[in-house]
Amino acid sequence: MSQPFPMLTEQQQPYSWAITPNAGALKELANGIWNCAVQTNQRPLVVLSTAGPLMGVRRALEVYRPADLPNHLAFLPQVISFQDWLEAAPGAWKFPKKQSDLERWLGVYSTLRKHPDLQAWFKAESETGAWGLAQAIVKACDTLSKAVSPHLQKQIHVFMQQYESDQDQQNKIGEVWGREVQTLLDATIQEAYRGMARKVVDQEANVLLTFWRYTASVSDPAFRNQFAIAAHLHALAQAQAVHQARPLIWVETADPTPIDQEIIADLLHQYAQLAPAIEVKMDWSAVGLWPEAIQGGDKSTQAVQNVHHAQIEGWRLVSAKRFEELAWTAAKTIEQHLIDGKTNLALVAQDRLVARRARALLARLGPALNIADETGWKLSTTRAAAALNSWLELIQSPKDGPSVKVLLEFLQNPFLDIEKILNREKDFCIGLIAELEDILMASKAESGWTTFYLAIERAQQYAVKTASAIPSSALLELLQFVRERHHEWSKLKVDCNKAYKLLQANLQATGMATSLEKDSAGKQLLEVLKSFDLHRPDHQLTVMRLNEWLSLIKTVVEGASYQEEGGDARANLSILPLSSARLREFDAIVLVGCDEQQLPAYSEPPLFFSDALNQLLKTSTIEMQFVQQARDLSQLLVSCSQVDLLWQSKSKNGEPLRPSAWIQRLQSKVDWHALSPQIQKRVFEPNPIDMAVAHFEEDLPMPLSMSPSAYKALRDCPYRYYVRSLLGLRKIKSVDEGFDASLAGQTLHQVLKSFYHSLKTEEHKNPNLKTQDEERHEWMEARLNMESEQEFAPLIEGDARVMGALRDWQKQIPSFIDWQLQREQAGWQYFDGELKVGFDLPFADIDGNFKTIRIEGFADRFDIHIDDSKLASVIDYKNQRFERVKQRAEHLLDDPQLLIYARAANESQENHKLLGRQVKQAEWVALKADLSKEAQKAARSQEVQEMPEMMMQFSAQITEDVQGLWSKKPMQAFAPEGVCQYCEARGICRKGFW
Ligand code: SF4
Repeated sequence: MSQPFPMLTEQQQPYSWAITPNAGALKELANGIWNCAVQTNQRPLVVLSTAGPLMGVRRALEVYRPADLPNHLAFLPQVISFQDWLEAAPGAWKFPKKQSDLERWLGVYSTLRKHPDLQAWFKAESETGAWGLAQAIVKACDTLSKAVSPHLQKQIHVFMQQYESDQDQQNKIGEVWGREVQTLLDATIQEAYRGMARKVVDQEANVLLTFWRYTASVSDPAFRNQFAIAAHLHALAQAQAVHQARPLIWVETADPTPIDQEIIADLLHQYAQLAPAIEVKMDWSAVGLWPEAIQGGDKSTQAVQNVHHAQIEGWRLVSAKRFEELAWTAAKTIEQHLIDGKTNLALVAQDRLVARRARALLARLGPALNIADETGWKLSTTRAAAALNSWLELIQSPKDGPSVKVLLEFLQNPFLDIEKILNREKDFCIGLIAELEDILMASKAESGWTTFYLAIERAQQYAVKTASAIPSSALLELLQFVRERHHEWSKLKVDCNKAYKLLQANLQATGMATSLEKDSAGKQLLEVLKSFDLHRPDHQLTVMRLNEWLSLIKTVVEGASYQEEGGDARANLSILPLSSARLREFDAIVLVGCDEQQLPAYSEPPLFFSDALNQLLKTSTIEMQFVQQARDLSQLLVSCSQVDLLWQSKSKNGEPLRPSAWIQRLQSKVDWHALSPQIQKRVFEPNPIDMAVAHFEEDLPMPLSMSPSAYKALRDCPYRYYVRSLLGLRKIKSVDEGFDASLAGQTLHQVLKSFYHSLKTEEHKNPNLKTQDEERHEWMEARLNMESEQEFAPLIEGDARVMGALRDWQKQIPSFIDWQLQREQAGWQYFDGELKVGFDLPFADIDGNFKTIRIEGFADRFDIHIDDSKLASVIDYKNQRFERVKQRAEHLLDDPQLLIYARAANESQENHKLLGRQVKQAEWVALKADLSKEAQKAARSQEVQEMPEMMMQFSAQITEDVQGLWSKKPMQAFAPEGVCQYCEARGICRKGFW
């Protein structure tokens, strides 16, 4: 029951006052504060135990300011949170310097490095785990420090007086605390644990105590708070001497822990000696909806009465079956409140995932709704943090270089300034990274700087050979830039200072610092990074492994919150935890996650301390959290006129979930039923999408040449050909030229060409090679092995994993030589390889005009027959298994690469390249024959069957296809799934939707 504000007299004891935390609480509090101002003729100091209700209290003071106040009282009383009040202590700069969390973790880290007994305990921890443990240790040490701080208040106050004059005291005080805490903790452990459990706890407690002894310092928050209290009281005494001491109104917005209660009681007692001190508590007797929320009296009867007096018509209970349904219901409920003209709303995020999803749905309402997420949006989820992380991942890569994924993730981050890095114009830089990506993907380069260089160089060589666009030389510059910085990190002996400086230099050099500065999250990220600019020399010089330092950065960024910038809006929505709704006014509240598993919700028990031990250390216990949440929920239901309680009635694994026991208990007392979500279903006519069809743009240039693979693409899917070859969207050039662009594939082609050329040379020098089969066999095997080793060496240097590909190929060599010798016995002789051949295909366009198109490509190899001076054969190597090669043969007309080379070689303009011979035979040769099957040991070549017939069919088909293309008929999307699977045009043709 509310009480009138006490009459203030000369008493030197704190006054007690209780207010009812219902809808009228802020008004009652404001009136009391003004009453105090009038009675004392002073501007009171109002300190709130939590910061949440700050703005609400200030607003209420404005609204309920008495009309007839004298001028000197008309200023709003000072309202401040306890934490801010401590920070604002007079002469705070004289206190021992405050340490950041980071510095304190480093303190734990350094202690760990110095003490082998602790190192042994930590040994199994990963870097991230170790920093997490360091955080837990710092927290636990703070709990210990706080537990002893009331016992030490006197010593601290004495110390405060001597602080300025006697530096020695500062050192001694640590010893005093050490003894006190040891005694206190030993006593509590004795009491909390018995028997077997004690052994385990003892070990943990010993480790913690050891840390505490080594790391506790006068700058720990618990002790700094005592300094601050003493400084305030000291200043108050001086003010009192000149009759300026202001009354203190302490508002207890949340139930304090016993230890906080002890500290505050002592503060108020001392304050009351010098000026009026009023302790304002919440009186739950008329608000608590469950007995546990009420202190004293006949709790059960009182709770029942409160339920009957509550305005339950404003409560709506809604159960949704699925997650998405729940989020939509929450979003729609809020939308309806906005339509109804409510402008100050709250979404209580008992279920944070649902709240996040609802928020995403509400974002579509645009800037008219200002959404403030007070649950702590993590900075690490922003794209600015992802950009930084991409660099951290890169510098953490092995010495040989990063993987393609890591490299591209960094280069594609939107904060990178390529123009600055290359010192080139914007136009020059457009498409550079896409070009690099194409080359690396096509070359199947996996990792390593050398591999990346090789891939670019090979792509350049290939472009020169095919007279196509040469990849930009700036790609090598870009790689060099990144490589140099990566190298700097690889050789750095990391200490905190050097690592911080180098990271900042990197951010500057890459232009990321400037780009991040322009981004809201980026700016906050840079601020967080500044905390690594340590001041204490011992922290600066803390040596650690690079991985440890990087994991420290990631831990700090992970722990940082992202503060969104709010703008002017027509309505506000606060997303907050239940505790933050205390003493705040909202037009309507939506609470998501009211199921039995999430309401009430308990915070994780701190490492090292069991609930029983917490009780003895007088900190927060599960029971206290339970009571506090019952009160917070009661207050929310009683003080807001419109509350929607939403829960998901089925858990993730499909089991039914009931509403929270608190809700069920209310339902047993009043007629209150759950509703189903009322999401309106939108009715619409299905409008199936048809197969995609591309219609030619009038001014689209038509192709004047075509490679074998482009023709294959046209046969596979005209739409894909249109997108890739005519529109040129992300065309991967090397792949498009029908060439095995993987570095390993290219290298194998290179090896074979050079091997056959060496064989020709060697045959001249050593004629025995032509007659002695065994010698020939041996030489060929040895030579092919050697050339393979040589060609693969630079690749292996860049990426040691390529060694596997080399070894696989070397296993194939004996069988490959067998095949070659068999072929020679049949009269075939190697003639040339990697030969560019083509022909002009005549056709008539839509208007009947005669035209030609050049069809050309590179044939892997031509052989000639020694017994027939007119006969030649064409071979295409496939870095595939023989089974795949056989499958190709079944679809020869859709993949007529060999027929193209054969026709080209036979046409008069190219025929001189084969000395006038005619290609009448064609075959594919698999470079990955199945060596395990004895019977098929030599099965690696597949000949084209019925070649003359096929050649005729192919010629008619290609003429018809090219004529169709030039007549600009619509290009339909159709292809078997095997083709679509790796098609880059899939997102455009929308295969799967039709
Ligand atoms: S996904 Fe399939 S149907 Fe679509 S364009 Fe690619 S190949 Fe053609």
